Amino acid sequence: MNIESIETVAVGGWSKTGMSLAKLLLTLGKKVKVTEERERGCFSPALIDVFARKGVCFEFGGHSLRFLRDAGLLIVSPGIDLQRSALSAHARELCIPAVGEIEFCFWLTRARCVGITGTNGKSTTTFLTYLVLKEKRKRVFLGGNIGIPFSSFVRRTRKNDLIVLELSSFQLETILEFHPFVAALLNIEPDHLDRYPGYAEYKAAKFNIFRNQRPDEWAVVNERFLPEVRQTLRARCVPFSGGENENVDCVTRIAGLFQIPRETVTAVGAGFHGLPHRLQTVKKIQGISFINDSKATNPASTLWALQRVKKKGKRILLIAGGKDKGVSYECLRDKFSGVKQLFLIGESAPKIHKAFRDRCPAEICPSLEEAVKEAYRNAQRGDVVLLSPMCASFDMFRNYTERGSRFTAAVNKLSS
Ligand code: ADP
Repeated sequence: MNIESIETVAVGGWSKTGMSLAKLLLTLGKKVKVTEERERGCFSPALIDVFARKGVCFEFGGHSLRFLRDAGLLIVSPGIDLQRSALSAHARELCIPAVGEIEFCFWLTRARCVGITGTNGKSTTTFLTYLVLKEKRKRVFLGGNIGIPFSSFVRRTRKNDLIVLELSSFQLETILEFHPFVAALLNIEPDHLDRYPGYAEYKAAKFNIFRNQRPDEWAVVNERFLPEVRQTLRARCVPFSGGENENVDCVTRIAGLFQIPRETVTAVGAGFHGLPHRLQTVKKIQGISFINDSKATNPASTLWALQRVKKKGKRILLIAGGKDKGVSYECLRDKFSGVKQLFLIGESAPKIHKAFRDRCPAEICPSLEEAVKEAYRNAQRGDVVLLSPMCASFDMFRNYTERGSRFTAAVNKLSS
């Protein structure tokens, strides 16, 4: 894509990514227009003002055809569902190419990308990969869905650098030519079925990571999914076993492609205690451990947590529930042996209650804080109180970070 000739670029969505894109486009000398579905009142006026003074035009409260008319390119934030948004219809009508941030930034860099996708474990695996590659290479960048927009650093990347990117299915929906030098698929489990017509479409979005790869590039694939993707792979395939810890297995395979030995991965892994809000021990009160796993937003990630805690022989008081994503919880029914009691919050509480009430005592709590208090009242020395919600957080919180922080605060209040 020849972006030199494009004068005006429209950015869909005034998100963290949208903001970072606007900044990048200004430095590239483009005229920038931002169109956002939510009302202006939802955003910081001071921030809008900073960008408006630099010449950025804004449209809030919806996407109009008129606003897009003079744009030569539309770049959308991952939060925008192109299947449903008016933006894609407008772009089609005006014959404006619509791409995502990952695609656009890929056009601007000559560095090699290592892309990691999957339903669960992406952030953990991406971060560990970054740490491991840093052991050998000086210039390694980290970004993507992990919370660092690609557009915030792409201009600093050079030819021999490495970029480790966490890629969500939403980001992979909007690529055209993007082809990572290494593309890794960790796992796929039912998730986001509120956004996709079905599981098949969700999987297809994930498989996009391999779509444009060249024969001299690498596809690192969890062997559980190899039969499904093998036919479509053009890159050289490196399978890994989704054994005891598929995240570490995947990192080890990626490291091998850069001649980094397994021992280095083991050593780096030993010093890495995980990211916040993922199986993070908050504290112990009277022999009861409190674990924050707020990032577990689907049943498969909660299963991962239950297995890890159960391995230590602990009985679990599980706090779960939140915004339902159209998935079934039934798959966990047979895995609930270590769960002593269930405390449910949020929109999905009745649905989860129905799925598990014959498995263990379950009660619906009016708030997260109440659930923490109730779990503590029922716990005994040696037990674990685990927040691993199986659901998104948006019904009660801004995001999973706020949910995890509120859990931590509630736990700290118990002992004060
Ligand atoms: P993602 O970025 O894909 O959401 P994270 O690394 O942030 O992945 O972890 C999300 C949740 O999934 C956490 O609760 C974590 O404990 C759990 N988890 C991590 N790795 C895996 C895995 N390989 N399979 C299932 N769940 C996992």
